[in-house]
Amino acid sequence: MKDCIFCKIINKEIPSYPVYEDNEVYAFLDITQTTKGHTLVIPKKHVQDIFEYEEGLAESLFSRVPKIARAMEKAFPEMQGLNIINNNKEIAYQSVFHTHIHLIPRYSKEDDFKLVFADNGKNYSTEEMNLIAEAIRKNEE
Ligand code: AMP
Ligand code: ZN
Repeated sequence: MKDCIFCKIINKEIPSYPVYEDNEVYAFLDITQTTKGHTLVIPKKHVQDIFEYEEGLAESLFSRVPKIARAMEKAFPEMQGLNIINNNKEIAYQSVFHTHIHLIPRYSKEDDFKLVFADNGKNYSTEEMNLIAEAIRKNEE
């Protein structure tokens, strides 16, 4: 897509640091390197976010992630874990609107990656929890 920075990276109009490539998927180093090896995995097809994925695109994109994760583990023996993040829409911190999966290697609990899951579970009754789950189930296609 014209004016998409990640499409330009795929087409080699903008340089990147390649990590993995095949016919459908490209992975390259994130320019910000939250931790050493921080990588973005993207489909070559321009798709904005998770809400636009077809099953085949999801299969090809997500199926490459374990392979790249294992390569990172081998490349950086000091790596102790990996966070996998996929931001969708601006409110959820998406800033580039060509979908991408962040692979963020973890080296210690004090490294530069912070992720907080607030615990609001206690604010919902069992009935409300059932209704929430049902609302999602009813809309699955
Ligand atoms: P997000 O906020 O989830 O949309 O993440 C977008 C990511 O793209 C950010 O972590 C940026 O550092 C990264 N990014 C933006 N431009 C480039 C670029 N030219 N090469 C590599 N990474 C980039
Ligand atoms: Zn694009």
